[in-house]
Amino acid sequence: MSIYTGPVFDMARTQFHRIADHLAIPADERDRLLYPKRAIAVSCPIHRDDGTTAVFQGYRVQHHLTLGPTKGGTRFAPSVDIGEVGALAVWMSWKCALAGLPYGGAKGGVTVNPHTLSRRELEALSRRYMQEMIPFVGPHTDVMAPDMGTNEQVMAWFMDTYSMYQGQTVMEIVTGKPVAVGGTLGRKEATGRGVAYLVERAMGRLGRALSGATAVIQGFGNVGAITAASLDERGVRLIGVSDHTACYADPRGLDVPALLRHVSERGALAGFSTELASDPAELLAMPCDILVPAAMERVIDAGMAQRIDCRVLAEAANGPTTPDADEVLDLRKDIFVLPDILCNAGGVIVSYFEWVQDLQQFFWDEAEVNDRLYRVLQRAFAAVLDRATRDGVSHRTAAMAIGVAKVRDAKISRGLFP
Ligand code: NAD
Repeated sequence: MSIYTGPVFDMARTQFHRIADHLAIPADERDRLLYPKRAIAVSCPIHRDDGTTAVFQGYRVQHHLTLGPTKGGTRFAPSVDIGEVGALAVWMSWKCALAGLPYGGAKGGVTVNPHTLSRRELEALSRRYMQEMIPFVGPHTDVMAPDMGTNEQVMAWFMDTYSMYQGQTVMEIVTGKPVAVGGTLGRKEATGRGVAYLVERAMGRLGRALSGATAVIQGFGNVGAITAASLDERGVRLIGVSDHTACYADPRGLDVPALLRHVSERGALAGFSTELASDPAELLAMPCDILVPAAMERVIDAGMAQRIDCRVLAEAANGPTTPDADEVLDLRKDIFVLPDILCNAGGVIVSYFEWVQDLQQFFWDEAEVNDRLYRVLQRAFAAVLDRATRDGVSHRTAAMAIGVAKVRDAKISRGLFP
């Protein structure tokens, strides 16, 4: 009966039912909490550089309207379908509720490999996607942000397209924009900075110093690269890294500033080194203190969960660990899991700050942004650990239980409509 099919939504559904069992949520309340309120599918035609016309499929899923506008990123990737976008929207809801933000979750995307588009084609597709979404989004309805395959420039095109249709500049329609057009200081870095901050807290709980610890990171885009830079600043040694083009390992530690320079000049890790090349299939199993999946969903399945050899698993990506892998991790007491809805929440927290600043037209300095970010993360981290101890459950169950219970309470207070 559901349009939400595929392995990623199956995973979100399985996780939700585990939490609903834990919270003893009655069967007749569950569909209302799990299934998204709205889903929009659009065709986005653009002129290619060679004069032909191409049509790309786009989606936006708004999970619930109970706590305020919906909020969530836009993904440009070949894997995008309604099930993947739906799952990401559901996870956003639990994440926003855990952080105490006045939003429901949303997510959008276009089924496209952005690396195959020229800059002009990417601009045409970004503008066309936003144009198709205009009837369904708004600063108090649904606020977009970047995700895999999109960036500050794409957000600037989204904001400009929406604004031109309104006849005035509407900065607060998207977050993750360039600072020059109403973005906030610290947004680009927020997710990775948040990951590093929480890794520090987790290592502190384990009685371990960060300086001298080792890390492995899968994915070197916005989140992976900033996480690498933030851990490097704290004295962590990056011993393995990959993206979709290359994988490198060095037990003595990779040169993080050189990797960052290479990627900013060349767009990806390929071509950085031949001597340090390593097998990407083995990256996640490398022994290290801190393992950071920062690319895609479902990279840690039950088999990989047996093999990973780290003290802290910092889930910077959304949904990197399958429910089967969770069962393995629950039995392994040696790994401190920072679940995705906590670990990568820095992005949406600072997106919230950006929206607030745009609405007020009153902008903060970067120290204020970071200080407030760390306070929200610390509160959520402490709540998750307290709940896990109190209920004798995993960090993921604790984090999701807090998020689901908040949305449920709001739905019970408001009634059936939202
Ligand atoms: P991005 O597009 O900037 O980077 C994605 C990275 O993953 C790239 O380095 C890409 O090469 C790499 N990658 C893709 N396929 C790979 C593969 N098969 N093996 C190894 N690496 C691969 O995207 P991002 O914004 O950094 O997002 C990464 C993850 O973090 C996603 O799961 C996203 O949903 C999540 N996330 C992002 C934000 C944000 O603020 N951008 C916030 C929260 C969560």
